Amino acid sequence: MSKRSNDYGVVDANEIGSWDEKADVVVVGIGSAGCCAAIEAAEAGTEVLALERASGPGGLTASAAGHIYMGGGTRVQKAVGVEDDVEDMYTYLLLNTPEPDEAKIRLYCDESVAHFDWLVAHGVPFEDSWHREKNVVQMTAECLIESGNEAAWPFNEKAKAAPRGHKVAMEGEAGGAKLIEKLVACAQKEGVRMQYDTQVLRLVREGERIVGVVYKQDGAERSARARSAVVLAAGQFGMNQELIDERCPRLADSRVEKQGSTFDDGAGHLLGEAAGGVCDHMDGALLTSPFYPPQQLIYGILVNKHGKRFINEDSYHSKTSISCTDQPDGVAYLIADDSFFERPLFQWQELVDAWDDVADMERDLGLPAGNLQETISDYNAGAEKGEDPAFHKAAKWLKPLTHPPYAALDMSLGKAHYVGFPLGGLRVDVDARVLRADGSVIEGLYAAGGCASNIAQDGLGYSSGTCIGEGTFFGRRAGRHAAGK
Ligand SMILES: Cc1cc2nc3c(=O)[nH]c(=O)nc-3n(C[C@H](O)[C@H](O)[C@H](O)COP(=O)(O)OP(=O)(O)OC[C@H]3O[C@@H](n4cnc5c(N)ncnc54)[C@H](O)[C@@H]3O)c2cc1C
Repeated sequence: MSKRSNDYGVVDANEIGSWDEKADVVVVGIGSAGCCAAIEAAEAGTEVLALERASGPGGLTASAAGHIYMGGGTRVQKAVGVEDDVEDMYTYLLLNTPEPDEAKIRLYCDESVAHFDWLVAHGVPFEDSWHREKNVVQMTAECLIESGNEAAWPFNEKAKAAPRGHKVAMEGEAGGAKLIEKLVACAQKEGVRMQYDTQVLRLVREGERIVGVVYKQDGAERSARARSAVVLAAGQFGMNQELIDERCPRLADSRVEKQGSTFDDGAGHLLGEAAGGVCDHMDGALLTSPFYPPQQLIYGILVNKHGKRFINEDSYHSKTSISCTDQPDGVAYLIADDSFFERPLFQWQELVDAWDDVADMERDLGLPAGNLQETISDYNAGAEKGEDPAFHKAAKWLKPLTHPPYAALDMSLGKAHYVGFPLGGLRVDVDARVLRADGSVIEGLYAAGGCASNIAQDGLGYSSGTCIGEGTFFGRRAGRHAAGK
């Protein structure tokens, strides 16, 4: 049994005297993944008990912007005239995911429109609108947004790009809260029993099968029997410093602010591991310091301490950000000229200064003499022809840097403000069943959302909306399968 993090572990069923509660399916955590599992299990006719450590539902989902990655011709895509195809979505996700599980991606894409329709049928609102700017989060209720690397090289050469981030219709960053409000209402309508201030501490095992949980409620330990299955939906592990230090070096760096909800202590991961499961992609993290909006800053170029470019700047913001931190000594600058420079909206990077002369700029930035001048000259030569032979930035973001003064934004780790959250989780099959290292199934145990590993694996291959997208999608599959459907 793990001694870490509140002693999450496993006990034998014979240690339970009599069960305090009984249900067919016990769901651990009432975020978006847990809600979807609970709704599906209840709609399949089973009795569902959902246990939540916090005093209310929502978890990290409730503070998320509410982007959900869906495509292949959703109602919103069609309404705004976006042509999307399941095969393009499939190809993109396959190429953009570091270690793609083809079967999962296939299902996720094939059933994406149906998943969108299911969310709508369960009360989740999406506006038929399209936020056309390259942005991190639209502060409006507009729905569709380009939320990944689809339009950036090399993906734009392999699959037709389409915006697939669907934001739940809410102003500001409250889309996740609206999603939770609607899903919880559905779960309650379906008769899911929800208990709050209830921390699940242990799984209960009978032979090889998981048959229940032990939880702390009102200061006392109680138990719940799960006749069919336990679904772990306890979210991410970003607030468990020990786990982060051990398994996620990018976030262990004290120069990165970890984002998460109070109870993101990896309960699901640790419970699953204690039961014999294994975790994947624990070193994967979304890590970002977005330099846009405003989107025109994408006309700029990113250079390292040698004055060299290293990436197409129109890539997804976590990809460009991680690439900055991976440069020698974590040093990187965004160079802009006066024709488009504006301070980044988030102001997470310092403006070092502005110079009339590139030679002065490279000297003051401590770059090797001549390198930045050469980089800009090469970039300008291509940009004038609408080409970027070195890194293939898309033509619409190419603009020669010829209007002094030239500005440098400091993207360096330790200088710019970087935030991140982890993406690793329990190894699960397409039905969200937790797997052992040898690939065998742990009977009676499922995992979905932040505590499972499916499509979102690291920040280089991430598209906004994938966490909640896969959490709701595979959460639903967990609920259906746990209910025997
Ligand atoms: C600032 C920010 C914005 C984001 N925006 C987006 C976005 O727009 N789109 C997107 O796809 N992803 C987004 N993400 C990531 C996304 O929010 C999470 O991956 C996702 O919400 C996880 O959902 P979940 O249901 O697995 O977990 P959660 O929503 O965190 O729910 C898990 C629940 O389990 C409970 N719990 C934990 N331990 C226990 C226990 N031992 N017993 C009982 N209950 C327990 C928690 O209290 C919590 O309520 C964002 C992340 C951050 C930090």
